[in-house]
Amino acid sequence: MLTGKTAIVTGSTSGIGLATANALAARGCNVVINSFSDGKEDHAIAADIAAKHGVESVYVKADMSKPEECRALIEKAAARFGGVDILVNNAGIQYVAPVDEFPIDKWNAIIAINLSSAFHVSAAAIPMMRDAGWGRIVNIASAHGLRASPNKSAYVAAKHGVVGLTKTIALELAGKGVTCNAVCPGFVLTPLVETQIEDRMRETGFDRDRTIREVILQKQPSREFATIDQIGASVAFLCSEDAAQITGTTLSVDGGWTAQ
Ligand code: NAD
Repeated sequence: MLTGKTAIVTGSTSGIGLATANALAARGCNVVINSFSDGKEDHAIAADIAAKHGVESVYVKADMSKPEECRALIEKAAARFGGVDILVNNAGIQYVAPVDEFPIDKWNAIIAINLSSAFHVSAAAIPMMRDAGWGRIVNIASAHGLRASPNKSAYVAAKHGVVGLTKTIALELAGKGVTCNAVCPGFVLTPLVETQIEDRMRETGFDRDRTIREVILQKQPSREFATIDQIGASVAFLCSEDAAQITGTTLSVDGGWTAQ
C-alpha cells in the first residue's frame, strides 16, 4: 500500500495516464492529474478520482512541451501536498511519416513531450525525493524504446532516449531509496492508437478487426492489446516496497513483442 504518498502522473486525463492515476489512488496515493488544457472536465477527473478512492486529487495544468511548465508542475504539486514521492512520466504523442517527409515541428514536439519533459520534471522532483530518502520515478517508454518500426523516427528516438535517461537516473540515485524504471507497453487500445487504426484502415481498405489483427498487432505475438489497467498495475508494482531493489530496468508489457 502507498497510503499518504503523493503521486504525479503527467498526461493523465486519458488512456494509460488516467488508468495509472486510478491504480495509484486505489493504493492510497494522493494524485496530481495533469494535461495541457484547463477545462472543467480536467478538474472533474481529479474530483472523480478523489471521490472514488477516498484520497486527495487535484488537476494542475502544465504543457509538457515547455521546460518551465514541466518544472513548475513539481513546484505546484509540492506546494499543495508538501512533497512529491512518486513521479510517472507518461505524457506522449505520436506522428507517423518517413524520415525525409517528417515535419520539423512534429519532430520537435515529440522529442519535447515524449523525452525532454521526463528530464525536466525528474530534475525538479529528484532533490525532494533524495532529501526524503524515498522516491519512485516510473517512465512510460514503449516497446519502441527497445525496438524500431519504420515511419516512427521521432517516437522511436524519444522512447530509446527515455530508456537511457531511466538507466542514468537510476545510477545517480542508487542506494538513496529512490528507484527509476521504465514500463514498455506494446500496443494498448487508447486514443493514441485509435488514430493509427483509422489511418491504417484507410491505407489498407481492411475492416477494423482485420486491421487490428493483421496490421496493428502484427508485431505483438499475443495478437491482443495490453490494457490500460495492466499498465497501471505494472506502475503500481514498481512503486511498491517489493520493487525496492528494481532500478534502472525496463518492464515490458507487450504480449511477447520484444521477445522476438
Ligand atoms: P493518450 O493520447 O490516451 O494520452 C496522452 C495523454 O497525454 C493525454 O492525457 C494528453 O492530454 C496528454 N498530453 C499530450 N500532450 C501533452 C502536453 N503537451 N502536455 C501535457 N500533457 C499532454 O495516449 P496513451 O496511449 O495513453 O499514451 C500515454 C503514454 O504511453 C505515452 O507516452 C505513449 O507514448 C505511451 N505508450 C502508449 C502505447 C499505446 O499503445 N497506447 C504503447 C506504448 C507506449
